[in-house]
Amino acid sequence: MKILFYGTKNYDEHFFQKQKPLYPDISITFIEANIGPETAALAKGYDGICAFVNAVLNREVIRKLGHLGIKLILMRCAGYNNVDLKAAGEMGISVLRVPGYSPEAVAEHAMALALTANRHTHKAYIKCRENNFALNGLMGVNLCGKTAGIVGTGKIGLAMARICRGFGMKVLAYDLFPQKDSDLLTYVSLDELLKQSDLISLHCPLTPETRHLICAESIAKMKDGVILVNTSRGGLIRTEDLIAGIRDHKFFAVGLDVYEEESAYVYEDMSEQILQTSTIQRLLSFPNVTMTSHQGFFTKEALDSIAKTTLENAQAFLEGKKLVNAV
Ligand code: NAD
Repeated sequence: MKILFYGTKNYDEHFFQKQKPLYPDISITFIEANIGPETAALAKGYDGICAFVNAVLNREVIRKLGHLGIKLILMRCAGYNNVDLKAAGEMGISVLRVPGYSPEAVAEHAMALALTANRHTHKAYIKCRENNFALNGLMGVNLCGKTAGIVGTGKIGLAMARICRGFGMKVLAYDLFPQKDSDLLTYVSLDELLKQSDLISLHCPLTPETRHLICAESIAKMKDGVILVNTSRGGLIRTEDLIAGIRDHKFFAVGLDVYEEESAYVYEDMSEQILQTSTIQRLLSFPNVTMTSHQGFFTKEALDSIAKTTLENAQAFLEGKKLVNAV
């Protein structure tokens, strides 16, 4: 089975090549170009393609892939909000993903963002390098004794809940499908979570229902001085409303690993470019906002696990076995 890997970086190649000898019947070609309407044609002669969170797999692209005889889309990530599943079904293409490859990788990054945004460690580091040992602008708040609100208690949300408990926080949670209440957390309504939490961390998927879950209305329900962290998907937050909330001094700190405008830039070095959008720059202009570029997943353990499960998914498809990671 021949698979074309779109949008690959050297680290993808490294971790997939490590696993590859275990799968002699699968041949992989790595290319840097990402999949989109212009590059779909490169999949001619392949049986399947592999793509990541930053891929465009809309109806147009999927129809092109279907006409080329592609039968399998391997997502080497957990989220699949960028894939038109209906179109894939119509074209007889199976879509497989890697659920829960390392929930701790993302949860630990969520806490890292909360701490960086709160304690300004990114600024303190630069200041010390410049021999500026003054503390102005660096004051944070304690997390111990405060309340964390976790939206979405799947694998990552629960890992984040455990971390927050380790920090001595009380943990509230909201989920459409709550797990059993445990010693770890207490389920409340979304309104109650917004009202009571000092740290809100988003861990639900992006769906039509969750798009702009954080908007002017929900921001108004939050505590003044709340810390907001998003490592899930940019579309969960209505950015214009977040910016208005930051200007109203609603937030003590905001940590974003994902944002609405990211798809044109994510994983690319744009340092020499004149960017044609300005939301990211406006967010970065605030002293209490810290941003990273969708790197929550980026640990050795997670990349190992992604490569392993993606190739297991391909092998299961090849052998006609039950596709446990189909979406
Ligand atoms: P999961 O499927 O284990 O958990 C998602 C949880 O969200 C489930 O419990 C589900 O019931 C809940 N949910 C669904 N709709 C909801 C709603 N409307 N309101 C509240 N809760 C809702 O997923 P996971 O593995 O924990 O991943 C969560 C998200 O993290 C993914 O969808 C993805 O977008 C994101 N993610 C980000 C990175 C990164 O690098 N930043 C990496 C992996 C995953």
